[in-house]
Amino acid sequence: MSAQPARKLLVLPGDGIGPEVMREVGRVITWLEKNRGLTFEVTEDLVGGASLAEYGVPIRNEVIEKAREADAVLFGSVGDPRWSHVGFDKRPEVAILKLRQELELFANLRPAKVFDALVDASTLKPDVVRGLDIMIVRETVGGIYFGNPRGIETLADGSRRGVNTEVYTTSEIERVARVAFEMARKRSNHVCSVEKCNVMESGLLWKEVVTDLHAREFSDVTLSHMLADNCAMQLVRNPRQFDVIVTGNLFGDILSDLASMLTGSLGMLPSATLGAVQANGKSPALYEPIHGSAPDIAGQGIANPIAQILSFAMLLRYSFDLQEDAQMVEEAVSRVLESGLRTADIMSEGMARVGTSVMGEAIVRELDKLQG
Ligand code: NAD
Repeated sequence: MSAQPARKLLVLPGDGIGPEVMREVGRVITWLEKNRGLTFEVTEDLVGGASLAEYGVPIRNEVIEKAREADAVLFGSVGDPRWSHVGFDKRPEVAILKLRQELELFANLRPAKVFDALVDASTLKPDVVRGLDIMIVRETVGGIYFGNPRGIETLADGSRRGVNTEVYTTSEIERVARVAFEMARKRSNHVCSVEKCNVMESGLLWKEVVTDLHAREFSDVTLSHMLADNCAMQLVRNPRQFDVIVTGNLFGDILSDLASMLTGSLGMLPSATLGAVQANGKSPALYEPIHGSAPDIAGQGIANPIAQILSFAMLLRYSFDLQEDAQMVEEAVSRVLESGLRTADIMSEGMARVGTSVMGEAIVRELDKLQG
């Protein structure tokens, strides 16, 4: 295998279980470098409570610049009860919000995949979720969370009124839809676009723009449309009908949480957020587990490292197009689960309970076997 150029990775473990689960990704990176001819130039820095303790801010501008220069950012999680008393702008969580804003991370990708070995962990019947593999693409920098006018005002009669505004432009819709269509081409080639065009003009525009883009550039992909309320119902009734779902910020927030819970545990779920092209020509991307810093179990060595490792597999796939390597990591995870090893969060009767590092080691051992 010929050596390939170094890929620049910025690793931001953050707080709580972040550094614990990130350590296990370190093993996987070392393994890939040793066995797959890949080279990563890894830079690590502090964010969240860890950065507040050292530098007095949740994230330094220098770290944001490093993120802009990196080929991909691997993020752990931020959140530390030691800072729960400070104002919102000084909280550890500002680190991730600022990164999303500064890098204009506009498309959040959340897979909901059910591993055969964990089919019983879902609250839905095994028959409904077995083999489930869907991807929700959520627009993250527009829509009602950012639209103006917004605020709470006092009316003449003394009562108060809260206002938020759903706003989407053609280009905002197009760029997220493009991500979804491109993703579908690498999967089962089906995009379902979700809005509320029956009651919202912004939904009507969303549907029109997605339909136009499809006709112009992606007619090889199957496109369907669904109202958001129906989509919520269908995700519980028959989730396997979906491949890629693309939707706005508000509906995506709700539907992606719903979809992720179809799979059972927070400790299993990765995510990616893709950004707009920067002045330096790079398209930033940030990969992180969907769980937080889990202060209740931090420091005990019992956190599940799989969501963080699968976030790294997404990074291999989407930032570096290393499909085979990503597939190997996912397969190694799947085989470890088949072998019966479980961290506490996914433990069930008859399985073997292990801690964070034993789970990480077991995944690397499976990689060894897969490499042969
Ligand atoms: P959480 O995801 O940290 O934890 C929820 C529950 O799931 C906890 O009981 C925890 O022990 C468990 N859990 C989470 N990940 C696990 C794993 N890998 N293995 C085993 N169990 C796991 O959510 P929370 O408790 O609501 O938030 C804790 C802190 O994390 C807060 O400060 C919150 O703001 C922050 N947070 C950060 C992010 C982020 O960095 N993107 C996301 C969500 C929450």
